[in-house]
Amino acid sequence: MPDSDPSQGSSQRDPASSFQSGRRTEGANSPVTQEVKRCQLYFGPARCHSMKQDKDRSTVVGTKFAESKNERDLFCKAKRRPSTSRILLLFFSVCSALALIVLSSTPKECHAARSLRPLIHIVRRGETLSGIALHYRVSIAQLRRWNGLHGDKILEGQHLQLWRKSPSKSYFVRSGDTLTEIGIKFRVSISLLRRLNDISEDRIYAGQRLILRPATTPEETRQARTAEENERFEYVVKHGDTLSEIAARFHVGLGFLRQLNSLTNDIIFPGQRLRLRPSSLDEPVHIVRPGDTLSSIAKKYRIRISDLVELNGIEGSRILVGQELRLTKRPVHMYIVERGDALWEIGRAYGISVTELKRINGLTDDEIYPGQKLQLPIQQPEYLDTYVVKKGDYLGRIARLHQMSIADLKRINGLRSSLVYPGEELKVNPLLNKGREWPKISKINWDDLAVSLRGVRKIEAGNGPYYNYSPKATYQKSRDYYENPSTSPLKSYRQARRLWKAFENEVDSLGYLSNVLRGWHIVLDPGHGGLDPGAIVENLDGNGNKVYVVEDEYVYDIALRVYVLLRLHGAEVTMTLLSPNHLLRHSDPPTQTFVNEKNEVYNSYEFNRRNCLQSWPSGGSNGNLSYRVRIARNAFKKVPRNHRIFLSFHADIEPESPDATVILYYRSKKRHYIDFASKNFAQSILSALGAGAYARGQYLGVLKRNPAGVKIVLEVRNLAYTDAAWAIRFEQLRYRDAEKIVKGVLDYVRNLH
Ligand SMILES: [Zn+2]
Repeated sequence: MPDSDPSQGSSQRDPASSFQSGRRTEGANSPVTQEVKRCQLYFGPARCHSMKQDKDRSTVVGTKFAESKNERDLFCKAKRRPSTSRILLLFFSVCSALALIVLSSTPKECHAARSLRPLIHIVRRGETLSGIALHYRVSIAQLRRWNGLHGDKILEGQHLQLWRKSPSKSYFVRSGDTLTEIGIKFRVSISLLRRLNDISEDRIYAGQRLILRPATTPEETRQARTAEENERFEYVVKHGDTLSEIAARFHVGLGFLRQLNSLTNDIIFPGQRLRLRPSSLDEPVHIVRPGDTLSSIAKKYRIRISDLVELNGIEGSRILVGQELRLTKRPVHMYIVERGDALWEIGRAYGISVTELKRINGLTDDEIYPGQKLQLPIQQPEYLDTYVVKKGDYLGRIARLHQMSIADLKRINGLRSSLVYPGEELKVNPLLNKGREWPKISKINWDDLAVSLRGVRKIEAGNGPYYNYSPKATYQKSRDYYENPSTSPLKSYRQARRLWKAFENEVDSLGYLSNVLRGWHIVLDPGHGGLDPGAIVENLDGNGNKVYVVEDEYVYDIALRVYVLLRLHGAEVTMTLLSPNHLLRHSDPPTQTFVNEKNEVYNSYEFNRRNCLQSWPSGGSNGNLSYRVRIARNAFKKVPRNHRIFLSFHADIEPESPDATVILYYRSKKRHYIDFASKNFAQSILSALGAGAYARGQYLGVLKRNPAGVKIVLEVRNLAYTDAAWAIRFEQLRYRDAEKIVKGVLDYVRNLH
């Protein structure tokens, strides 16, 4: 979707939603122009000539197609339709990539009403245009246009205009948010915020949905109420309640409930308000946002600037947007839960059984929350791992990867300066995915899984290896960059199959960790792919340099890691999509991001047989999502329904959702039908996915008429958050994501028996 300009555009989308699908189709390097060339190359000019002429109408036509319902079966078989519509559809559907794959359950602000005044942002020292764009979830192009800027240069004190078409109706609280900041950002008074959301003491919770303006329709009222029911952050004590019952009911350990509410005994009174979750300011890390200064952060979290400086090894007063700051010194026998940490991972990394951890901390189940303090056994020595410094490493990155403060890292290693050298060994906190028990890491040598194939060129690369051919670029240079496939769909399919066979053989040779999943068939569906890259986001590395992350490339890698682990536990696994030129990829260095290659194919001869442009996977509401379902149907043919699992992998930009893994299960558009089996499955794997993860129902094409017994879409990371985009670039953390998902599946299957 092109950027909408509130001062002239006719588009009905607000800046946020146009950023969300932030791929542009205009300009000389547009996919349309490029694809015309491609198309001529493969399919002859006759079939595509009209596309060029329609290019200029792209916006209007694209929107129309995206919304049209009877264009569903436009692909290869729909020969009679004008080729213009078919081909254009592919590219506009790319623009509206999220439309069907992820239809947010929260209402999008799509009102024609516009606010009369722009929001003014006053540029502070050290801010960059890209940082500000990230913060307000608008594109840099929009910022430039609204402010008549030509380059990226902005000056301290400069006033930047930001247009929004209509005020947002609700907002999900992020860690580190305060009520005052939210009030300023959305121009709502604090008193109104308090009243609308029934807030006392101005305490808010990350993940909490705040209503920003009074409901005007019964539908809005109902939605506000539903949101409330999904997640409770506070509870008002009723007559007859006991503390332990409340703890069990809301999945908070009794000890933690006492801690949250500063209770010295278990006596409670009707009417008393109990906190059920740590507040947005209780989390142990802060991700720097535009406008943050050391003093504003220190003030917000009520810590001393000097502590902040010391903990984070800050030299001078320079902090970078996206940088992670640690806020507390971690006591030796204490673990402070971070977003995404799971109890089983902590137990494994520190060599303590989950049962023991739960016993020590008075937990009744496996659920933990960001900011929760967990006591580790006193007799346990401080458990540390050894990390060998790699080329290009720096202390900040090593610390962040191991969830440590720079101060701790320096102290433990007796470092005087922040300089580290390749080959140097450092003592670090164990990575939560480098545990000592499950799964036996020694059995999975990821390097061995880089297969070699006779007659196939293997190309080593920092973000590889690649086979057959490698991308021309060594990293994703911009949001708009992409590379076309080097050959036709059918040939790509054959390359991909050959590569996949070799990979399957390698995985076979690893043996088994367990046979828990024997008899189960699991279909893995990496989101987007082919012509549709999914979300593409800008991120800043530790030095403040821009890097870009392409959703489909990263979720494919996570899906492959899940594949390996599932196979090691005895499952049959089928992929819906395959890449012709890579398998598992490294990220060394992580700044060498995966390139947007439009070359993934459906893992089915049937869908590639025609060898036409429409054979490539594409996105959007009219995208050929049903092909994925058909691949699953084929795979599941001889499997009993209750042994079929379908997992679709995504990492979309969802500014309206919290910073966490989200599991989506199917519900019909009007919510008459909810897939309860999948809902149960989703909820049962939440604790394996870690603190902050949540599940919700959504209308999703890929889950509709899907023959699996349980089927979900996993938004593994929410790329609307800088920290998520940072993390997904790291191979270790992608592996960790995969492990958590597989742990969830294993727990689910084990609990069935
Ligand atoms: Zn996606």
